[in-house]
Amino acid sequence: MTRTDLPLPALPGHAAQPPATIVAARRPSRRINVGTVPVGDGAPISVQTMTTTATTDIDATLQQIAASVAAGCDIIRVAVPSADDALALPAIVAKSPIPVIADIHFQPRYVFAAIDAGCAAVRVNPGNIKKFDNKVREIAQAAGAANVPIRIGVNAGSLDPRLLAKYGKATPEALTESALWECSLFEEHGFTDIKIAVKHHDPLTVVAAYRLLAAACDYPLHLGVTEAGPAFQGSIKSAVAMGILLAEGIGDTIRVSLSAPPAEQVKAGCHILSSLGLRPRTLEIVSCPGCGRLQVDIHKLAQRVEAAFDGFPLPLRVAVMGCVVNGPGESRDADIGVSSGNGKGQIFVRGQVVATVPESQIVERLLEEALKHRPHTRLGCPRELHPEADPTSRSAASSSRNL
Ligand code: SF4
Repeated sequence: MTRTDLPLPALPGHAAQPPATIVAARRPSRRINVGTVPVGDGAPISVQTMTTTATTDIDATLQQIAASVAAGCDIIRVAVPSADDALALPAIVAKSPIPVIADIHFQPRYVFAAIDAGCAAVRVNPGNIKKFDNKVREIAQAAGAANVPIRIGVNAGSLDPRLLAKYGKATPEALTESALWECSLFEEHGFTDIKIAVKHHDPLTVVAAYRLLAAACDYPLHLGVTEAGPAFQGSIKSAVAMGILLAEGIGDTIRVSLSAPPAEQVKAGCHILSSLGLRPRTLEIVSCPGCGRLQVDIHKLAQRVEAAFDGFPLPLRVAVMGCVVNGPGESRDADIGVSSGNGKGQIFVRGQVVATVPESQIVERLLEEALKHRPHTRLGCPRELHPEADPTSRSAASSSRNL
């Protein structure tokens, strides 16, 4: 029979069992510095995303970077598919509050432009750069002189044709071999300021590939499920793959790739990390799924609460419960919350009911209680209560969080 351990008190004379370790110690790795953000060697796991604006549209790109920063982004990547995009890099780098990585395919000369522009790192995909092989020495020298790390990014769609022929498809082994071979091109020139990504759309292939890579090298690893899909499906696929890997101690920086705005990708990444205890939680909405006792449209109420607290920059757990029978008990761990019923909402703070308000005033009252919860700082003011607040100062506050 399978033995099941329950958290029962130890019998007299028997030592209590220590709790199981859920998240393994981080895999030892080298450290690189992506501008001001350390990656690897135990540094906090960073969240990054990529802008979707034309890089030549500097204002729009900076706005998207600001939105990503407000969502918790640590590193931003911009695509550089043309000479005009390369020309836009200095202005973007100068005004971005977080390090900028240039994402370059096909054109080695843009790598030099990105380094000259002050980009914090460059992502290259040697499998996509036809003339790359004879430029590696120059790139290694330029990147080394500027202390600019290179991210080797291998994914299923850009696998080296020789490895595709060898393995038949983008297997974990093929992705790993491709990445390590591309690293070796730089290592030959003494350049090891590298991080690696091996991405695939299938989460299990991603897990297998990163496990192989983690065992085969000590470079820091950038986790991602590429082309994961729309927000709902993609978030689940990313959480499954990254959850497994991060729980094994594998992964130093993450990017959730969704068919959704970059800020949404960042939020998903931050939630994955905070769910594993790898990043301090910020706002967490604990809402019940509803059942036959439901006395309110819980889906709409949860959405309204989530929208109202969007951007709240301090740790807060808000419970939204659909009935007054079980709600308070089910959300005892929340900082503030509401149990709804009969057109009213019981507002509670840390399990104690502090008010009963009409349903139409629930969200407003929750916001007021959130402010009381953090009365000593204006950072705790959601924008609804301070519409005059400067949004850029919120972004700056978010970006300076110690996450
Ligand atoms: Fe059902 Fe109430 Fe629990 Fe929501 S809080 S799931 S309505 S019992």
